[in-house]
Amino acid sequence: MSKKLKRTRNRIVVALALFAVAYLVSHLCPLEEWLGGRAAAIWCEFGLFLIPYLIAGYDVLAKAVRNIGRGQIFDENLLMAIATLGAFALVLFPDAGPHMAEGAAVMLFYQVGELFQSYAVGKSRKSIADMMDIAPDFANVERDGVLVQIDPYEIAIGDEIVVIAGERVPLDGIVISGESQLDTSALTGEPIPRDVVEGDDVISGCVNMTGKLVVRVTKPFEQSTVSRILELVENAADKKAVTENFITRFARYYTPVVVGVAVLLAVIAPLFFGQSWSDWIQRGLIFLVVSCPCALVISIPLSFFGGIGGMSKLGILVKGSNYLEALADVNTVVFDKTGTLTDGSFNVIDVHPAEGFDEQRVLSLAAHAESYSNHPIAISVERAYGKSIDSEQIEDVREESGQGIRAMIDGRAVLVGNSRLMEDHGIAFKECKLIGTILHVSYDGAYAGHIVIADVLKPDSIDAIASLKGVGVKKAIMLTGDRDDVAAIVAKQLGVDSYRAQLMPQDKVAEVEELLEEERARSKKGKLAFVGDGINDAPVLMRADVGIAMGAMGSDAAIEAADVVLMDDKPSNIAKAIRVARSIMRIVWQNIIFAIGIKLLVLGLAAVGLANMWLAVFADVGVAILAILNAMRCMRLKG
Ligand code: ADP
Ligand code: MG
Repeated sequence: MSKKLKRTRNRIVVALALFAVAYLVSHLCPLEEWLGGRAAAIWCEFGLFLIPYLIAGYDVLAKAVRNIGRGQIFDENLLMAIATLGAFALVLFPDAGPHMAEGAAVMLFYQVGELFQSYAVGKSRKSIADMMDIAPDFANVERDGVLVQIDPYEIAIGDEIVVIAGERVPLDGIVISGESQLDTSALTGEPIPRDVVEGDDVISGCVNMTGKLVVRVTKPFEQSTVSRILELVENAADKKAVTENFITRFARYYTPVVVGVAVLLAVIAPLFFGQSWSDWIQRGLIFLVVSCPCALVISIPLSFFGGIGGMSKLGILVKGSNYLEALADVNTVVFDKTGTLTDGSFNVIDVHPAEGFDEQRVLSLAAHAESYSNHPIAISVERAYGKSIDSEQIEDVREESGQGIRAMIDGRAVLVGNSRLMEDHGIAFKECKLIGTILHVSYDGAYAGHIVIADVLKPDSIDAIASLKGVGVKKAIMLTGDRDDVAAIVAKQLGVDSYRAQLMPQDKVAEVEELLEEERARSKKGKLAFVGDGINDAPVLMRADVGIAMGAMGSDAAIEAADVVLMDDKPSNIAKAIRVARSIMRIVWQNIIFAIGIKLLVLGLAAVGLANMWLAVFADVGVAILAILNAMRCMRLKG
């Protein structure tokens, strides 16, 4: 609890104690006898209740006055000020009986509710801050045989840092010596530690559990995983969900309307129908207390905020509450194949050299041409080649998105890619009978042969499609730039509803646009999600209602373009994300219906004179507290 919160709490405790004293005195002591008259007794009670009232509520009164000065008249402070001062003012109507106790109580409970709200908001902030704790304070660098701690901002790409057991990895990099186990749970929600050895990638934010690691940094701190996550979560609060915006707008018009109705309620019957003023003023006051919208104004943003925090603990980063809302309505999920459903580490199955070339030559040409690319194919080819790359020979590399690579090697044009690339350059290539992704290679205008590579499904891809069906997603579709025969096999293994192969990146956009139209035609609310690992997927990610990117393997551009990032690259987390998003929306709607329902009920009762102030206090503060407790569940949803 913060200092300020503690002070407020103490103040309320003191006010509650004084209130209890005032209540006991006014009920148990024969004040009338002591003071010699009813009027004197009532004014004495008035004073007794005024003390705890002012101690608890002076800040509310001050805020109400200040807001009037600023022209923002209609807020809950004003509602509370009028309602409670009004209750005290009823002392002026001798036939109404005194209502000071209620006036003081309304203020007290209102403040208890406010305190509770601050506490809840603080707690969800803290749970997000705990996750934020993944931010490291320093990186160890060896200087003249000793380790010194350096600000991670000062470490450059290529620097070597040392991560001792028990420390957090401060920057993204690759292990150059040592082996250990990494606890990635803060990032991915995955409880099982990951073994790392020389050559493995490590991402910042993980905890090094067992051994000492020497890591060569591959990204500056600002672009490392930790910084990116922090940025995403911090910005998430700015993107408001439709429901959230609605409530804010609602509160802005609602309060003046309520004040107007309360005034009408208080004056019409006495003015025109000769009813008792005190009775109707009371009804008006009760009406005011009940109508305070704070249960909604606080609990709904809290649900979204807590939900985003809770999901990030599961390794699912949602960039705003609007995407959370959209996720809950996803009907169609479109997948990219390579790197999304398959793990993107291709194995070379076979090399078929053309006349005049041998296997090694074909592999070497391909590996050299691919050496600047980050595409999963490129990385796999380099790994299969296994020898060092002589970058002096390579010039003028161009990546033809969805087709392959063009490069100059030793001054000769080399092409590595699919049949479309060969056709575009007029190279006569040989078809391959094997099923797999085919990399054709040409050298100086002549066909050099092809490499057959195959990718494997991610272990949980089949499960991912099945669980999407389980949560009621209508269509799962796969799009790929790969060959039709490969796509057909993968599609069949996975059980997707349909697939399209041999698509260029722009074809994928067109395809998704068509599917979006279809979705719109089918239902107004239904949303389409596109899931990609991002290498050349950014345009599609932006186009979809919800763009979901693979965080660990995905490219920076994709993470940038996406609305949701899966930290551990597991497609099965999509169904989980949808389930959690739906639970959050359910909680939001529960709160809306519950709060408005109870309030309408008590308002109705107040209008016909059946509700008293105490019921009004429950309808306001009680409902707010219940709604907040309900909203806090969003932080702990497991999916
Ligand atoms: P997917 O849609 O399955 O993610 P891409 O759009 O990234 O696949 O690539 C489509 C096809 O383009 C690949 O199957 C491959 O034939 C070819 N291709 C793309 N990039 C490369 C590359 N760097 N080297 C060789 N071929 C490539
Ligand atoms: Mg891809």
